[in-house]
Amino acid sequence: MRTSSNEDWLARSQAAVWHPCTQMQHHARPGAPAYLPLVPIARGEGAWLHDFDGNRYLDGISSWWTNLFGHANPRINAALREQLDTLEHVMLAGFTHQPVVELSERLSVLTGGALGHAFYASDGASATEIALKMSFHYWRNIGRPEKSEFLCLAGSYHGETVGALAVTDVAIFKDAYAPLVRAAAHVLPSPDFRQAEAGETPADVARRAAAGLENWLQQHGERTAALIVEPLVQGAAGMAMYDPEYLRLARQLCDRYEVHLVCDEIAVGCGRTGTFFAHEQADIRPDLMCLSKGISGGYLPLSIVLCSDTIYAAFLDDSVARAFLHSHSYTGNPLACRAALATLDIFEQDDVIAANRAKAQAIGAALAPLADHPQVKHLRQRGMIAAFDVATDAPYFSRQFYRAALDRGALIRPIGNTVYVMPPYIVSDEEIALLGQTIAAALTASL
Ligand SMILES: *Cc1c(COP(=O)(O)O)cnc(C)c1O
Repeated sequence: MRTSSNEDWLARSQAAVWHPCTQMQHHARPGAPAYLPLVPIARGEGAWLHDFDGNRYLDGISSWWTNLFGHANPRINAALREQLDTLEHVMLAGFTHQPVVELSERLSVLTGGALGHAFYASDGASATEIALKMSFHYWRNIGRPEKSEFLCLAGSYHGETVGALAVTDVAIFKDAYAPLVRAAAHVLPSPDFRQAEAGETPADVARRAAAGLENWLQQHGERTAALIVEPLVQGAAGMAMYDPEYLRLARQLCDRYEVHLVCDEIAVGCGRTGTFFAHEQADIRPDLMCLSKGISGGYLPLSIVLCSDTIYAAFLDDSVARAFLHSHSYTGNPLACRAALATLDIFEQDDVIAANRAKAQAIGAALAPLADHPQVKHLRQRGMIAAFDVATDAPYFSRQFYRAALDRGALIRPIGNTVYVMPPYIVSDEEIALLGQTIAAALTASL
């Protein structure tokens, strides 16, 4: 039997597959400073990805923040195999099934009953769009259609479909499409603690950003439908971290000015920051919450918008026009829901939130030696996410670092000059130490 090699897949993938978030020409020019390797993956196991040539890569960023319990996790695999033989899919309009009911019930419990209704889609950007539409439609249904504008934070990322781009503030994703994007979203100062002025604590920065929110709402609260935030960590902004105080104050202001608070927990939910939902650390609940990425264990495309009873009730009426008529073909897919249930089972059976505290400490210890590096700035951590910024003007730093880490057997893909790790929760202490060593070596090789 002929076994294939990396070589076999590289050219075919470059010719036929349009890869995401990629200038495809960068794959074609080995040796160029912007060269981006394309790595054919044959299989995954635990925290490791294996290529066709016998190399393996430690998945230091959980395959774009999705994977929680490793690749080919035996427990999730078993649940999916069973589901596959039971029900692979059925439309969710007019039908229901066990996995979607159980998942909705369990998520409601995880929000302390505050968000008791679950709406389903397949990816994060759709969840953002659903949350925005739900908020707008809620205000319309209760007779306040003027509440139609949205607020987001500087550096925010909520997805890249045209609607979600309206509340995304990352120039490289947004600028080319600016004429298509709805203008009725306002960008507020971020509580990112790197913005601290002399003598300010992270909580001071949070209070300053909240003052900016208050100022805006005083003038525009009447027209504002919702504020959308990534609680505690703004991922695509370069793992910008902020104090929970901002969420507490934002919750108060949203209540005072009758504005929905939407927590986009797509990246930070599911235990990533140390609590199951990041917003728990501020002791608040949002009106709407978006989940995706880790909720299916990183197995299948699944996103969920959870909402409060108040929002849900405003759509109940004899009129179809007052209903939330949004849908996607794969809404509530049973396989994806079953993967999510298996994921929640692991959280319970293994007391993952507690176990992650020790893992987070190990991650902190593995990166601590870098604090003394003259070009490392703002070494920071929130639970299972650790990051630092690299002070360099080298135009291709992130590419060079990425290639240097791959050469050393780790997948660590900086965002601009921010290097971060966000490993699957099953990563061992030895693997965490290896991530630390690889980062140190890749840093030396790329500066
Ligand atoms: C990834 C991400 C999204 C978009 O999810 P997709 O599935 O990529 O569309 C939205 N918000 C946040 C915070 C994310 O990290």
